[in-house]
Amino acid sequence: MLSYQHAYHAGNLADVHKHALLAVALDHMTRKDKPLSYFETHAGRGLYRLDGPEAAKTGEAAQGILRVAGWFPADHPYSRARAAVAAAHGPAAYPGSPLLAAALLRPFDTMTLAELHPAEVAALREALPKRYVQVVQEDGLAMALSRTPPEPRRGLMLIDPSYEVKTDYDRIPDLMQKLHRKWNVGVLMLWYPVLATGLQAAMARSLRASFPDALSHEVRFPPARPGHGMTGSGLFVINPPFGLSDEAQRLTRLFARL
Ligand code: SAM
Repeated sequence: MLSYQHAYHAGNLADVHKHALLAVALDHMTRKDKPLSYFETHAGRGLYRLDGPEAAKTGEAAQGILRVAGWFPADHPYSRARAAVAAAHGPAAYPGSPLLAAALLRPFDTMTLAELHPAEVAALREALPKRYVQVVQEDGLAMALSRTPPEPRRGLMLIDPSYEVKTDYDRIPDLMQKLHRKWNVGVLMLWYPVLATGLQAAMARSLRASFPDALSHEVRFPPARPGHGMTGSGLFVINPPFGLSDEAQRLTRLFARL
């Protein structure tokens, strides 16, 4: 039974970290005139509202993108993608990772997006631009293994589980090894929460030991509510595109000021 709904968290500081780095990675990869394969294992509904009841209930967007939008000048790929989505859906619209990617990819790139929750799948299909996108209602990790290596080989996979099932932390290092063996040129971008309990730490250690050349980037921020367990955000990127590490360092400095 899935209970996680990203609408309550869209635009929070973890989204800012993940979406800014995803946008920079895609911006770099789309500079070459060659097609890309783009995947998401846990896509969500794609389009959120920063003025909706869910955002108001948690206040996470107010402490997130609405507070730190100035970190990203208008020509930053994260701002460009947000502007494209705002132009199509209104100023309070916020793109989830699928709409962010759709705004930055080209018509000759392919997108394959997995999502399990039926309502999220329906909303995602509705929100996506009419172009070549495959939305599959499948387990994301199974989709990742069954569709790699893709054609074309150049590409990026965002792995963004909700970690509702605590065994996700144990399964992911093995999944990343398998995926990298199958698709050794693929950019594999994993997001994970940094928790006050440290539940993610063993997974992050194991990934760093297996992939010493990967980009491992964590930022810390004040919890959304007193006692809220998430105190930071982690991204682990195998085959990081050029420029990603510089943007990560810039974000480290910005998050440290919060
Ligand atoms: N990537 C999205 C973004 O940045 O906008 C947010 C995704 S949200 C953190 C995680 C999503 O995974 C939820 O929409 C949830 O319904 C979905 N989900 C949970 N278990 C799943 C599974 N086994 N396979 C695919 N999707 C799953």
